[in-house]
Order: sequence, then C-alpha cells, then structure tokens
Amino acid sequence: AKQERYAGYRVFESAMDESMRARRALETDLRRALALREFSLVYQPQVNLQSRRVAGFEALLRWRCPRRGPVSPLDFIPIAEETGIIGPIGEWVLRTACRDAASWPGDYTVAVNISAIQFTNRSLVATVVSAIADSGLDPRRLELEITESVMLDARGNALAVLQQLRGLGVRVSLDDFGTGYSSLGYLRSFPFDKIKIDQSFVREASDDRGNRAIVRAIASLGASLGMATVAEGVETEDQLARVAADGCTDVQGYLISRPIPPGEIEHFLAESRNV
Ligand code: C2E
Ligand code: CA
Ligand code: CA
Ligand code: CA
Repeated sequence: AKQERYAGYRVFESAMDESMRARRALETDLRRALALREFSLVYQPQVNLQSRRVAGFEALLRWRCPRRGPVSPLDFIPIAEETGIIGPIGEWVLRTACRDAASWPGDYTVAVNISAIQFTNRSLVATVVSAIADSGLDPRRLELEITESVMLDARGNALAVLQQLRGLGVRVSLDDFGTGYSSLGYLRSFPFDKIKIDQSFVREASDDRGNRAIVRAIASLGASLGMATVAEGVETEDQLARVAADGCTDVQGYLISRPIPPGEIEHFLAESRNV
C-alpha cells in the first residue's frame, strides 16, 4: 500500500510538471503572438429589441497560433492576465476596435472587454484617450465591458477610473452579471450604462423557472435604474421571445449572428436592416 501511494504521488507530481510545462509553453507562444500578428478581432452584433435594429457590436479576441491552431480566449486570457501580457494585448484590442468602428457605415457602438488587470493599471485612461484620438471615433460610441471582479481587484480606485472614463463620454457595461460575487451595491455606487445578463441565465431559462425569475428581476432593476439590459447567448426564437417578454432591452447571441470578421460587417448590416 505504501508503494502504491508513493507511485500515486509520483504520477501526481509529474502531472503537475506537465501542466506547468504546458502553461510555460503557452506563455512563450503568447508573448510572440502580438508581434507576429496572430491576433484578430471578430464582432458580434447586439440588437435593440425596441427598434429591432443593430445597435452595436462586441469585439471578441481571436488567436490563431501557427502551431496550435485557434486557441479560445477562455484558455489564453487567464494566462495573459497572470503574466501581465494582457496589458499590450488589451491595448491592441482597444486600438484596433476603435479603428475598425470608425470605418463602419453608421454610428454603431463598439464594446471592448477590459480585464480587471488592465483596470488596475494606471495607464488605462490615457490609453483610452489615445485610442479615441488616433481613431477619430466618437467616444460615445465606445463601450467598455467590465466584470464585477474589477470592483474587487481595483480596490477603492475602480470608482475613480470609471468616473474618469465616463467623463470622456465613454460608456461602461457590467458584463456577466449574476455570476461571481454580484452585489447590488455596485449598481448603486456606479451608474453603469448597461447590464449584460450572463448567458447561463438566458440559456437555461427554459428548464429552470429560477433562472427566468432572475432575468426578469435584473431587467426590472435595470429599468428602474435607467440602465439597458442585454440578454447574452440568445440561441433560439424561444429564448428571444422570453427575454423580450421579461423586459430585456437588447439581445446578443448566435440567433442574431455569430461573431463576424471586420470585413463582413458592411455586408451583414446591409442584409439585416431590421432583425
Ligand atoms: P464574454 O465577454 O462573456 O463574451 C461572450 C462569449 O459568448 C463570446 O465567447 C461569444 O462568442 C460567446 N457567445 C455569444 N453568443 C453566444 C451564443 O448564442 N451561444 C454561445 N454558446 N456562445 C455565445 P468568446 O469569444 O469565446 O469569448 C469568451 C470570453 O473571453 C469572453 O466572454 C471574455 O470574457 C473573454 N474575451 C474575449 N475577448 C476578449 C478581449 O478582447 N479582452 C478580454 N479581456 N477578454 C476577452
Ligand atoms: Ca463581454
Ligand atoms: Ca458576458
Ligand atoms: Ca465572460
């Protein structure tokens, strides 16, 4: 038995080594990716339920590594955050998204995901100012999506940063609402423009009355606070009908469109005057 335990320990240890090596290798590839232009952005439309029109697009990062093929942001963003590589990557995303949006045929908004690590960095506001100036984008067309972890990680500073961004005319959305350590206090202490209801509540609403009650509660909370509420991950007509009935103001999801490359946006808009 002792021998078995020992063998088990060795297996465990070498599995640890293995995963450490895998992380290091990913980190090495990630460090090169920016210079080698392996990143791109795709854009997923958001539709306003009242006007039934496309209101804007969320920028989503894609990494095609020559050795690995496409790597999901769910796999590389956490490592980019841990290693600090998220700084330069996030700046590239922001600048590229502003530049792309400035060329769109209409005043659609562009939403950019900002990680908590970027938020703690003192240069975020300066980077946003510079991205707006360089692209010529109207700051009111830029939305920054942050998660609740920003409010925790950035300690007391988050509010001041958010207010500075707001002062530029930039809009701020609270992403993945309902996951994590949601606190209604965040909504009171900072007037977000938009609440994005996490897809888990939207997707599973059909078989779970609890989830539907949550969607309804968030939508009504948003309405009374003057915030838009976006249902994320809408995949079916049923889900669309439900979130509309539940009072969400906007929707985003595969039913409307998968994220599309920048070169296809004009075509998409021409084909979908009313969604
Ligand atoms: P997120 O910000 O919550 O983005 C929404 C994710 O849901 C995207 O996955 C999108 O492709 C996916 N999605 C949209 N509609 C549907 C649907 O109807 N069904 C399903 N099953 N999925 C849908 P993606 O692009 O893989 O991104 C995953 C996460 O990675 C994002 O979640 C965000 O947290 C992070 N991420 C992506 N791009 C960036 C970025 O530029 N910067 C940072 N910091 N994080 C990013
Ligand atoms: Ca997002
Ligand atoms: Ca989200
Ligand atoms: Ca997310």
